Amino acid sequence: MQTTGKVYAPVKVSDLSYSFKAVETHSDIAFEALRTILPPKKFFFPQEETIVMCDGDQISEVVEVPTPFVVFGVHPCDLAGLLALDKIFLSAPLDSHYQRRRRAAVIVGLSCLPDKHCFCRSMGTDTPNKGYDLFLTDLGEEFYVQIKSQAGLEVIQACSTFVQSVNNDDNDSYKDFWSERDKLFERTFDSSKLPNLMDMGWNDPVWDQLAERCLSCGNCTPVCPTCYCFDMVDVAMFNTQKMEAKRDRVWDSCQFSGFAAVAGGENFRPGPIDRLKFWYRHKLHGFDDAIEIPSCVGCGRCTVSCPAGIDDLPGVVLTLLQKTNMKDAVQ
Ligand code: SF4
Ligand code: SF4
Repeated sequence: MQTTGKVYAPVKVSDLSYSFKAVETHSDIAFEALRTILPPKKFFFPQEETIVMCDGDQISEVVEVPTPFVVFGVHPCDLAGLLALDKIFLSAPLDSHYQRRRRAAVIVGLSCLPDKHCFCRSMGTDTPNKGYDLFLTDLGEEFYVQIKSQAGLEVIQACSTFVQSVNNDDNDSYKDFWSERDKLFERTFDSSKLPNLMDMGWNDPVWDQLAERCLSCGNCTPVCPTCYCFDMVDVAMFNTQKMEAKRDRVWDSCQFSGFAAVAGGENFRPGPIDRLKFWYRHKLHGFDDAIEIPSCVGCGRCTVSCPAGIDDLPGVVLTLLQKTNMKDAVQ
């Protein structure tokens, strides 16, 4: 069995927030964490990474060989977020930087209980279907473990003293957990209506109301498990003997005013309303065409991280559903 390397898991970093960090023992892990500040995409698509180095007249791609690592405590919506990123980065043209990190990782999923901001149930990402090596359902005194891959099986075999076969009572407890959890979602809607809704609601006044308050701060995008826009930044290093430079890939945000600016002074999305509508459409409709899955996984991070308190994505959806003739989609 290959070594599992470092383990990253949710750690409490303030009274209200959690972050995926390296842990040494189980007591470091915040098992109660619902949503971390940043989703686990940061392990595979880092906020900043050097792609190309220039050393004199030698230009070379930076090929990092990641050591094996474990990401523990990934909830179902974040598993779905990683699967969406896989569709982006592992389709042609394949991103080898992302692929190497994905191959080096063992993903251990963990069940959770939704709060008022979660709407993964509406987006169909509320249960663990795939995208993990192991998935743990918290049954109180014990965890019910699902094994999805050879890597997951090897981890379980390595800690066999803590594991026993499930019996019928365990299976019943597992089913009870997920059916009780299902009842805890406060706001639900039929996501199959979203593409039509975005088309029909394109000129609704709700967008003006949101845009009046939007600060174009871009907070809603780095926290999103499926946002993947980046910029390339060339950095020249100070060296009088030879030319040294690097090309970095850094996260970008479609909510920044200059994101859609092009040479000649044109900006295709000059105002907050243009950028907000673009982002909502991408989340609720756009991905359906390109990769056949919605790009919103209902994690609620954009809602809790918006300083203007406007990024209530299910609230916007419900408002639009009520205003159109699609009220039947509110469940
Ligand atoms: S759009 Fe908001 S709720 Fe949906 S996946 Fe992104 S951060 Fe989560
Ligand atoms: S986090 Fe809120 S205020 Fe900031 S860009 Fe997104 S919607 Fe606008």
